[in-house]
Amino acid sequence: MFYKVAEEMSIKEKLGILTDAAKYDVACTSSGVDRRGDGTGIGNTEKGGICHSFSADGRCISLLKILFTNECIYDCKYCINRKSNDVPRASFTPDEVCELTMGFYKRNYIEGLFLSSGILYNPDFTMELIYQTIYKLRTLETLEEIVKIVYKVLRKTEKYMAIRYDYIEEILPHDIFFITTGELEEMYPDKTPKEREYLISKDKGAVCVMQIGDLLKSGEKHDGRAPDYDDWALNADIIVYYPVLDIALELSSMGIRVDKDALLSQLEKAGCPERAGLPFQKAIINEELPYTIGGGIGQSRICMFFLRKAHIGEVQCSLWPENVMEETKKAGVPLL
Ligand code: SF4
Repeated sequence: MFYKVAEEMSIKEKLGILTDAAKYDVACTSSGVDRRGDGTGIGNTEKGGICHSFSADGRCISLLKILFTNECIYDCKYCINRKSNDVPRASFTPDEVCELTMGFYKRNYIEGLFLSSGILYNPDFTMELIYQTIYKLRTLETLEEIVKIVYKVLRKTEKYMAIRYDYIEEILPHDIFFITTGELEEMYPDKTPKEREYLISKDKGAVCVMQIGDLLKSGEKHDGRAPDYDDWALNADIIVYYPVLDIALELSSMGIRVDKDALLSQLEKAGCPERAGLPFQKAIINEELPYTIGGGIGQSRICMFFLRKAHIGEVQCSLWPENVMEETKKAGVPLL
């Protein structure tokens, strides 16, 4: 059930109130501290809004730090947001938090969201709103936004390469074309999945093929995908047409990672429900891990594409079979 909270204030006014209200939450490396950035510490901690934390791989990351609401029913004596304190009050709607988060993310201001909250009406009601927010952020729309950002980087890189090297012409279209595996099957019912990818990439130049892993209407899969990796309804491959070899070239495989429901259902469909007992899978099912999005970019493929090379061995060192070495030598393709 989706609830609605009052929206009489502008989103900017709410942002001012609820970033300020959140800065006393000292659960990260820079917040709630009255210190200007002086070049010796992490960031400027005087104002609310953006805080910093460390990712698992040690990177310092920026997070939008807000409260969902400071209209709290409780009166904890130490808290600035206690109900007896005379401070401006506001509450976001789930849509507003999504709009702000994606807006800042797209402009490269933040890499994530630090969302906490006072208690509006009662704890269950508040958690329901926060759950709605996280659920809304975990949608196809989010996936498409992220793909557009990744694609823009690819396009800009190609532009740089075309300026730097005379022999390279820009071939990527301005926009990437989005299509699901189901729509592709409807478009080319008599073709194999690989043939469909070739035809659509040749037609559009760059495509994002979404929803890979589940059975299509025909009862076949477009392609395999691990059941405990990304959500089969919220994943994608970025594929470009590569005229040097007249092929569809996959540059990235990505997706919104499984949540509890997606994981359990996908393990069942893949016929391996026992994997639910493994440590990582168990942590997802027990909701101990946060929702994430991620993927891989084929570094050698990217280099091959941008340098317009005919064989991946021209951009990465490998051992190749004798016949491949002979054929590439004959064709004048130098392998590393
Ligand atoms: S419950 Fe309300 S008053 Fe108590 S600490 Fe949380 S926000 Fe502050």
